[in-house]
Amino acid sequence: MADRIPAQRGGPGPGGLVVVLGGGIAGLAAADRLSQAGWRVRIVEKDRRCGGVHRARQIGPYTFGVGSIFYEENARLFDLAPGLRNLCPTVMRVQRRIAPDGAILHYPLEPREFLRQSPLRLARSVVDLAWSRLWVRRDGTLDAIARQRLGGSFFESTGLASYISRFHHVSPREIDEVFFFRRMAYVERFTRIGALARSAARSLLSRAPVNQRTRRPLRVRPREGFEPIFERIERRLAASGVEFSLGDALLSLRREGGLFHLRTASGSCFAEAVVSTIPLDSLHQAMFGVGSGLVSLDMTTLFVSAAHLDRRLGNVLFNFHPRGQWKRATIYSRIYPDAAGRDGGFDREFLAVETTIPPGGSHDPQRIFEDFRKHMTVLGLARDLTLEGHERVENCYPLYTPGSGAILEQALHRISRSGIILAGRQGRFEYLPTSSGVILRVMQELDAAGLFAAAPEMAA
Ligand SMILES: Cc1cc2nc3c(=O)[nH]c(=O)nc-3n(C[C@H](O)[C@H](O)[C@H](O)COP(=O)(O)OP(=O)(O)OC[C@H]3O[C@@H](n4cnc5c(N)ncnc54)[C@H](O)[C@@H]3O)c2cc1C
Repeated sequence: MADRIPAQRGGPGPGGLVVVLGGGIAGLAAADRLSQAGWRVRIVEKDRRCGGVHRARQIGPYTFGVGSIFYEENARLFDLAPGLRNLCPTVMRVQRRIAPDGAILHYPLEPREFLRQSPLRLARSVVDLAWSRLWVRRDGTLDAIARQRLGGSFFESTGLASYISRFHHVSPREIDEVFFFRRMAYVERFTRIGALARSAARSLLSRAPVNQRTRRPLRVRPREGFEPIFERIERRLAASGVEFSLGDALLSLRREGGLFHLRTASGSCFAEAVVSTIPLDSLHQAMFGVGSGLVSLDMTTLFVSAAHLDRRLGNVLFNFHPRGQWKRATIYSRIYPDAAGRDGGFDREFLAVETTIPPGGSHDPQRIFEDFRKHMTVLGLARDLTLEGHERVENCYPLYTPGSGAILEQALHRISRSGIILAGRQGRFEYLPTSSGVILRVMQELDAAGLFAAAPEMAA
């Protein structure tokens, strides 16, 4: 049963009620800061639990995840309650990709890879790159910026072009270049002229393979799932007075006499301020009765076990091969060591396999699994795969089609005009790859809205 929200008016000025829509990491971080600043805070979350895309599923002996798993040592998530970092074991993230010829290579692309092609191919790629830099003009599409920066032949031969098409279900010509700057920030940085020159010099001086370069370990969610993390965060927020209305979705929202009137599945209330971290399109629907025109991609996530997976696949694998509908596999059996500290320690390997669903498409796990099984088996990379379960994960990636920038600006303007604060990855239709980036943006938005200044004596 959803917790009931009584119909009431928040008190005027500082100390009044702020409703935070969404209990993902963005909503929890916002609630934390606002309650510290002296506001009365209520989180409205449509699920029975907080965490959003931080979600795990136990199936038999295996704990699979549907989204977030890796965190930097100083991730902002760890500031939301004491002791969180220590709940999260460290692991080396070993990312690989299946190249178009079936070879298993490092992920993401490395400048050295460009420089270490056969002399003939390198000469061709260099000419192609020089030509692209001189003649390919940016036209606002992902295709043009990727070809200009990488050269057409490297863009195709690495498998990046087919990965992008698989991800979006349309060609890179139908994707806005903003994707290159938000999602492909690493490629954007290494393809700047200065970075390429530095990398060429380093490559001539060092012959060490890319895979042997020193990388820092990352933290991962606890072996048993996310409950230990989110229980602590919720307990801490509740102790500081934050109210939770779980299993309760926003239905409608409008401004009435200087306050916000919210109707949710469990009741209605008036609030002095609203911070929304739910998908922008859902909020638009609740406020104006129509969608915003913005499209997000959902994902089919398969939970799979296998008698054997090739050792070279690392623990995170990307599909840059021309076949197979799946885009990424996270191999959990290699992320969680057994009691003796060995990698794995499970009878079978187990992994979560992600495939984006085209807009308007359906969640069809059996078909996607058959495709994945065939693909991996034909390439000789896996044996005896079993589909253990599946989930549809909503609103994973904003779809940046040409023109979506203008639609986004209009929607942000229309909603912000009413005084609602939009924050988070979902809340602003913004591609933010890490939870730390999400929390940082939330703080910036709250700061810009002046909500911290509401109760200065408490904000210190
Ligand atoms: C597949 C995937 C993998 C990722 N992996 C990592 C990773 O390994 N490491 C990392 O640091 N970051 C990762 N990220 C990025 C980032 O951590 C997450 O996107 C982040 O958790 C987003 O937080 P959020 O609160 O903005 O959105 P969400 O987590 O999506 O939370 C939004 C919340 O709003 C609720 N909601 C929706 N509609 C309504 C409604 N109408 N009424 C009330 N509530 C509603 C939802 O139930 C949800 O709980 C990943 C993201 C994705 C999509």
